[in-house]
Amino acid sequence: MSAILSNLQVVRLAIKNAAIVAQRDPASVHLLAVSKTFPESAIRAAYAAGQRAFGENYLQESLLKIAALKDLAIEWHFIGPIQSNKTRDIAENFAWVHGVERLKIAERLSAQRPHNLPPLNICLQVNVSGEASKSGVTPSEVESLAHALIKLPGIKLRGLMAIPAPCDDPRLQQQPFAHLAAIFRGLNSQSLALDTLSMGMSHDFPAAIAAGATLVRIGTAIFGDRPPAALAG
Ligand SMILES: *Cc1c(COP(=O)(O)O)cnc(C)c1O
Repeated sequence: MSAILSNLQVVRLAIKNAAIVAQRDPASVHLLAVSKTFPESAIRAAYAAGQRAFGENYLQESLLKIAALKDLAIEWHFIGPIQSNKTRDIAENFAWVHGVERLKIAERLSAQRPHNLPPLNICLQVNVSGEASKSGVTPSEVESLAHALIKLPGIKLRGLMAIPAPCDDPRLQQQPFAHLAAIFRGLNSQSLALDTLSMGMSHDFPAAIAAGATLVRIGTAIFGDRPPAALAG
């Protein structure tokens, strides 16, 4: 059995167990396989094992892979930082974008989304780690940005995303996730109808699921350790 297949089975089981412990339906937690820096062959192996949603961070690298894997029914998620001169390629090639943190970026993605494609699914990135993180809007800014985003026709606001500062203590890991979940519930109480809470990575996904994650973004636990950042395009 390939390492990727067995890793995927281990991760799926861990997701299921975390959901059961949290008294949640395991089917309510979706797995995004983060394939950044890994070759096309690794993605094909995960696909053969039934995985359909893949996350990429680096635009040039991802465009090459998307072209090379056109024969597969993959749902591509862009999860990296977004520069405004890169929005057209993202709008044309991905189904989801996690990590939107500026209205200007959302407006460009909306305007550049091809009309023959369904609206681009968006998660707003929130900074729930305070000064430990520079990415994401502050919790106090989320509400007005969310209300501005739902007016844009080419995108569909699906939920919130966060990348908390790394932390090894499972009890402390839950704090930023619980914070994001509370913001999420607050927006839904204003009838925003968001369905996606994108939080949790290889080292902290059980804590994220305990706090309500509906989508976990997992790379290392499926594909193994990544090469040093210098190799990433
Ligand atoms: C790389 C990355 C992941 C996956 O991280 P792992 O620790 O390898 O599971 C998840 N989310 C984002 C935004 C990433 O950049």
